Amino acid sequence: MAANDDTTILEETERTTGRAALRKNVQAAIALANTVRSTLGPKGLDKLLLDEEGGVQVTNDGVTVLEAARVEHPTARMMISSSSTQDRVARDGTTSTILIAAEMLQNAWDLVAQGVHPVVIANGYRMAEVEAQKILELISKESTDESEILQATHTSLAGKGHSDIQQRISELAVQAAASLATQENGKIRADPTLVKILANKGGQANETHLVNGVVIAKKPAHPEMTQSRDAGKILLIDGGIERRNTVIDAKIRITEAGMLEAFRNKESEMLAKQVDDIIALGVDILVCKDGIDDQARSLLEAAGITAYRRVHRNDMEALSRAVGSHPVHSTSTASKDDLGHFKSSRQEIWGDVGHWILEGSQKQGLTLVTRGSSEEMLEEVERCFADAIGVACHMHEEARSLAGGGATQIALARRLRRFAETIPGREQLAIEAYAEALEVIPRALAENAGQDALGRLLELTAAQTSADSDWLGLDLESESISDMHEAGIREPIAVTRQAIKGATDSAVSVLRIDDLLWAKQDPQIPEGVMEQLEGMGGA
Ligand code: ADP
Ligand code: MG
Repeated sequence: MAANDDTTILEETERTTGRAALRKNVQAAIALANTVRSTLGPKGLDKLLLDEEGGVQVTNDGVTVLEAARVEHPTARMMISSSSTQDRVARDGTTSTILIAAEMLQNAWDLVAQGVHPVVIANGYRMAEVEAQKILELISKESTDESEILQATHTSLAGKGHSDIQQRISELAVQAAASLATQENGKIRADPTLVKILANKGGQANETHLVNGVVIAKKPAHPEMTQSRDAGKILLIDGGIERRNTVIDAKIRITEAGMLEAFRNKESEMLAKQVDDIIALGVDILVCKDGIDDQARSLLEAAGITAYRRVHRNDMEALSRAVGSHPVHSTSTASKDDLGHFKSSRQEIWGDVGHWILEGSQKQGLTLVTRGSSEEMLEEVERCFADAIGVACHMHEEARSLAGGGATQIALARRLRRFAETIPGREQLAIEAYAEALEVIPRALAENAGQDALGRLLELTAAQTSADSDWLGLDLESESISDMHEAGIREPIAVTRQAIKGATDSAVSVLRIDDLLWAKQDPQIPEGVMEQLEGMGGA
């Protein structure tokens, strides 16, 4: 029975086993890495992405390129998902993760060709990773100054957008992170997803700004309602103040004249009761996720309450954080404890659109208003900000940084080679291979800047060894080998730690695959990648 099932499944798949499977997987990983290699670093090139609807996107962001490519190869998909994880967890370092993983696999394949078993390599890689993580702690520097946080944030925007945008976005991200940071059980927490992004098309990208408050493109529910207020109390309702729809909801049988009338009167009474409950609570501003009936709107207006209706769920959440209270489900059970507090509320017209700006009592209510002449520009600004705020938040949560410009990877490689010498088994070879794989970062950085990559690599290694410094790296602005601490090219330790972990995890999982099942459903591989796969020859 089970055997039959197996056969059925296998008929719909292609099967490759053992070394052939590994070889195919390694090829897929390398082909994938090659599609993003040229985007790495400040001198990386942009990629032009076309989608099926003919939309165009210009980006320098590795993970954006990979996610847009409709890749079906199972290994390639696994690598892409590790890069997406990097994006989610660390918000940066996505291209580096893919490049390192692919290089680890390439080096592993060379060892396999020399007769080393993949499992031994996987073990060696794990040993190397443990050691690498220790080295990272050792060579990182404490960076608590705002200028250092800004440097790390600025480094993360290398090659993305114009330089004045980079500067602006880094400053905004640092400012936002500082106001998001809170103490939780003695630890600092700063969640980068708490900043609301509101696109306001038009103007220049460097006019993008941060508003201390939640901004929502909405006007009050009634034109006569008070538009601006100083401090006050706010009630959020996870629903509306509406009549039931007599046709759909209410199953009433109208048997006598006047019954419908009576029903309507009853509904009006119920609406008035809800408004009375709200007035009794001493509410200044009312916000509903759903609608507010005409009659209720007039009653609220007469009571001097400003109400907003049909507020999106995400905005309800942002408001809830900003005012420090949760939405209630019903007005009848709402108490004074359910009220939130705000510092100010005002309406502004931007373009032709009315915007409500509410500054809550809590720090966590920030909106980044992106500016730009086209949708593409607005999206690029948003992506830059996402990287920058992620890095700025990491720096608040853990104020340690590592050198950029390939310095850290060279330092790791140098130290891992020394570590390898202490391991007697074949794992020694794997640790050396791992060390070499990390050097792909300085190589690609130099390559993309049009420099002699191998020459630079040797120069850097020699410079670090003779100066006994782990912070000498490639400064691609001045094109020299410099101390990255002084040059201000630094990265949060959290990003590099996660990149090393993610790359090792994906390389090791590919090494452990012994059997490649590939659904026969017309694999979709982008043209460039396919050519490379073919160029490398089949297994
Ligand atoms: P990732 O997706 O991996 O973050 P990026 O394209 O953002 O890739 O490039 C990051 C790399 O660029 C890091 O290794 C970083 O140290 C390096 N980098 C950034 N700015 C500079 C600079 N001015 N000089 C040299 N290297 C830099
Ligand atoms: Mg980056």
